[in-house]
Amino acid sequence: MSTLLLHSCCAPCTLLPLELLRQANWQPTVFFYNPNIQPRQEHDRRLCALKSYCQQVGGELLVNSADAELWIEMVGNRGGPFPLIVGDADFDLNRQARLERCTACYQLRMQRTSEMAREQGFAYISSTLLLSPYQFHEHVQLQLADAAVAAGKEVYYTDWRPRFSEANRRTRALGLYRQNYCGCAYSQTEANLERAARKAQRQNRRAGTSTHSPSADSQTLTFLDDHAESKLC
Ligand code: SF4
Repeated sequence: MSTLLLHSCCAPCTLLPLELLRQANWQPTVFFYNPNIQPRQEHDRRLCALKSYCQQVGGELLVNSADAELWIEMVGNRGGPFPLIVGDADFDLNRQARLERCTACYQLRMQRTSEMAREQGFAYISSTLLLSPYQFHEHVQLQLADAAVAAGKEVYYTDWRPRFSEANRRTRALGLYRQNYCGCAYSQTEANLERAARKAQRQNRRAGTSTHSPSADSQTLTFLDDHAESKLC
């Protein structure tokens, strides 16, 4: 069986792909590379959860914790937040802006994954981002394919999204740390705004009044709080 390097965004999204790959007789090595995750403490918290999970299941784990500043240069400076709020006049514009930002984010992560695969002699690459219905799935797939071609690697592609709810249930039952935003500071603000908007919409529906979407204008974003490794694990 050929060797496979599985890029991992976090422990909850890794559980099922790792298990399914093993059932299909792959022995994937997990690769954590997510310079998008802010603040640094959150990055390290997700990494700790993944380390702990890999230890539990005997999974090989490679880690690259670099490139926080490179991510800002290549991705973060594209701006945001771009909340996707149903009924909001800016929904389509925000979706396009978020798509461009997220595509650049996938590109950086998939490129580093393919480079690591080349350095370490893996034949295939894949990513746990293919599990999440909250990602731009086709764009993850495209960036994975481009990165693989550039590094002379093959892609292992499966649409794991139909198993996302099951993965959620299982990680909850295991008590694995589960984040409530994608990763970057913008996505944290977006998630907060979208949750607040959904709550307001529910309340307004019950009261029979019009909706008011919270605005991002007053949000202050801080990309990086520090560059120090936290001591979580
Ligand atoms: S929302 Fe997620 S995928 Fe998009 S730029 Fe932020 S961290 Fe990257």
